[in-house]
Amino acid sequence: MAAVGSAEYALQHLIDPEVCIRCNTCEATCPVHAITHDSRNYVVDFAVCNNCNACVAPCPTGAIDHWHQVVKAMPYTLDEQLSWDNLPAPIELEVGSQAEVPSDVRALTEIATAGQGGPSAPPWSASHPYVNLYSQGRPAVATVTGNYRLTDEGASADIRHIVLDFGTAAFPVLEGQTLGVLPPGMDDSGRPHHVRLYSVASPRDGERPRYNNVALTIKRVNVDHDGKPVLGIGSNYLCDLKIGDKVNVVGPYGASYLMPNHPGSSLMMICTGTGSAPMRAMTERRRRRRALKEGGELLLFFGARVPEELPYFGPLMKLPKDFIDINFAFSRLSDQPKTYVQDRIRDRVDKVFQMLTDDNCYVYLCGLKGMEAGVIEAFRDVCRTNGSDWDALKPQLLAKSRLHIETY
Ligand code: NAP
Repeated sequence: MAAVGSAEYALQHLIDPEVCIRCNTCEATCPVHAITHDSRNYVVDFAVCNNCNACVAPCPTGAIDHWHQVVKAMPYTLDEQLSWDNLPAPIELEVGSQAEVPSDVRALTEIATAGQGGPSAPPWSASHPYVNLYSQGRPAVATVTGNYRLTDEGASADIRHIVLDFGTAAFPVLEGQTLGVLPPGMDDSGRPHHVRLYSVASPRDGERPRYNNVALTIKRVNVDHDGKPVLGIGSNYLCDLKIGDKVNVVGPYGASYLMPNHPGSSLMMICTGTGSAPMRAMTERRRRRRALKEGGELLLFFGARVPEELPYFGPLMKLPKDFIDINFAFSRLSDQPKTYVQDRIRDRVDKVFQMLTDDNCYVYLCGLKGMEAGVIEAFRDVCRTNGSDWDALKPQLLAKSRLHIETY
């Protein structure tokens, strides 16, 4: 864009459509409803955005970390933003005319870049993650080396363990990080499908140790949460892959939902369905290093409708009881009342309180959005039963990077 004459400039908060994975986190977080979307892009209304930056830290990819200097009277309109496939080039400004970057914007940009994946910083002993090595314009090409159904053939949910090999391309990931898959083809508006984000289900040294591969846990989506038929573009693409197929992958993403590495550190993991992917990665990391006797305790709460639909049920049942304390919650067993993970947390009130108040224990939630409120209420009850107050404890957990939540 050409230089603009004497004008007043402002910073406009924009979302990079190339990096955005359309997870809705920003729109759900924005307290003034400045963020909206169509079937394609997430956009920020310049007239409504008050630069509070509540949306910045929770963004899992950093797509939100963009502030372009614009002529104040001519910001990018919503229609313009909705039509973008990429962010426009910054305008050229007159010498000395740059809008000043507010210090809170600057600070939040730094935090967002350092801590993508959530508002919390990573545990102090987490390994340093690589992020954003591959973009939509330059994806890594992986080869499918495994596609196994995890759930029983008769079960209504088709959940798969998919292994992608990167060959000689570097794709370093840590447990808790995510990657994006680019489904081939076009959407209804004739543009390439946007990125689909998945948690890595394998530990950092590969699904097969010392191989350059990762595993994903994918549920084929053919109905929405209300039971209406929908075709999950990303999930059906992945679930139908054959050995040898090539997949375009972007990322990795996430620099806060990471596991601690220091000896004696414990993990409390709470998940539903395919939200088990990061828990599987962390558990496997600890299992492979068990002989080193460096790990603390592992406590797992895992919810699914029935055992036949619980990913990794068989392998989990084989893990030694003195290695991991597993608490399943089944919601649709014909002979038992509906049980959610939060019910099982209440059943284990003493253990949960001991771990919540242990500075060496790190807590991870992953899965359905609805679970989050239920689990927090259960934590509140656990604290109350022990004469403590969750509202006082939670800020301490966050300040010590001991509470990590990834729900959708
Ligand atoms: P799902 O099968 O729909 O549900 C798993 C269990 O959670 C069921 O027993 C369900 O019970 C229960 N549940 C429903 N509402 C709940 C609530 N309010 N509190 C506690 N439990 C509740 O799960 P899914 O389809 O696998 O979905 C998992 C979620 O994880 C998705 O949102 C997905 O996006 C997310 N996720 C996936 C990945 C990945 O890499 N694939 C990574 C991170 C997160 P009922 O249905 O019987 O009520």
